[in-house]
Amino acid sequence: MFSNLSVLGSTGSIGTQTLQVAEKFNLNITALCAHSNIELLETQVRKFKPKYAVLYNEDRAKDLKIKLADTDTKVLSGMEGIITAATMDEADLVVNAVVGMVGIEPTLSAIKAKKDIAFANKETLVAGGSLVMSEAKKNGVTLFPVDSEHSAIFQCLQGCPEKKALKKIILTASGGPFFGKTLDELKNVTVEQALNHPNWDMGAKITIDSATMMNKGLEIIEARWLFDVPCDDIEVVVHRESIIHSMIEYTDNSIIAQLGLPDMRIPIQYAITYPQRFDSLVNEVDFSTISKLTFYPPDYETFKCLSACKKAISKGGLAPCVANGANEVANKLFRDGKISFLDIGELVNSAVEHFDIKEANSLEDILTADKLARQFVLSSI
Ligand code: NDP
Ligand code: MG
Repeated sequence: MFSNLSVLGSTGSIGTQTLQVAEKFNLNITALCAHSNIELLETQVRKFKPKYAVLYNEDRAKDLKIKLADTDTKVLSGMEGIITAATMDEADLVVNAVVGMVGIEPTLSAIKAKKDIAFANKETLVAGGSLVMSEAKKNGVTLFPVDSEHSAIFQCLQGCPEKKALKKIILTASGGPFFGKTLDELKNVTVEQALNHPNWDMGAKITIDSATMMNKGLEIIEARWLFDVPCDDIEVVVHRESIIHSMIEYTDNSIIAQLGLPDMRIPIQYAITYPQRFDSLVNEVDFSTISKLTFYPPDYETFKCLSACKKAISKGGLAPCVANGANEVANKLFRDGKISFLDIGELVNSAVEHFDIKEANSLEDILTADKLARQFVLSSI
């Protein structure tokens, strides 16, 4: 079990649940980082007493410094501050729960500092999976999946004796709030409707990604990198109840699944305590209350973000990075009331079709492709 954690994105949905797990096991928190949520970060600092508290937003960091003047915690700011938290000697695990591919630089820095990572920040792997995984390999660093599907696959794989026995990965998807809807029915859906996820309580960006099914597209790419499996061997199945978190199929057609209540504290805890298992803050599944588990094929025609990700995968190079960058902007524009729900899929698709960027080997290439994709979306609306 890891016992000294630097938590990047500590004020978010994954971050706050990580701190609940840390409190249960009495773990030491070495650093807490957020973007600008000064109130919650101050409360967390007073409770967990980390060496560093970091706000990406420089002005907010100045205010935080004043608020925390009576504590021993040092306040840092900007990307530099986050990188300090991700590489500090005292941490033995970095929890990357930042939202967006802005997490790529701290990820690469943590890897170079030989820190294992509990990894929730899927956008970083989608944008720069090739670079991140090759650096992790080079530095002997493990990325422990936090995303529930990937944790499920990781758990199923514990019983896999040899890689060649694995035939495919079956990623489950809840289908989100708009499962079964037609394009016509989705024309005028509101942000409020899209934020109303049936099973999971998550941050705003990923909740919209679940409604568009971009989330599942991102997760195919995330699985490709985490488990070094070709995308063609990753199948998506809609499973409305979110009880089976994903499955693997062996060459003999035997399938292993991981089940549990839809609560992120199970995968977060496993990433921290691996390979050991302990009591959980989450209840057990009561099968007597679940009358059925249902399965459907995904609708690639209606959920264009999902097909855009598939297209990006087959294009290769930095196309997934483009899809992610375009989506990060389109998702925000929708939340801000600037574009419609269906515009998100259109914009991500157009961006994937517009660019053809083959290089994927340096951070600079990745940041450039991401920037181009963002500009493309902003100039298209
Ligand atoms: P939230 O929006 O709830 O939280 C995001 C966190 O990141 C906040 O602490 C935020 O700070 C911080 N943050 C954002 N930008 C920066 C930055 N530039 N520098 C430092 N910190 C930053 O997101 P979630 O917790 O829902 O998601 C986090 C990641 O985990 C995402 O990649 C998501 O896809 C993934 N994930 C989430 C799941 C969930 O159940 N929530 C499930 C599976 C994966 P502030 O509060 O100050 O803005
Ligand atoms: Mg997931």
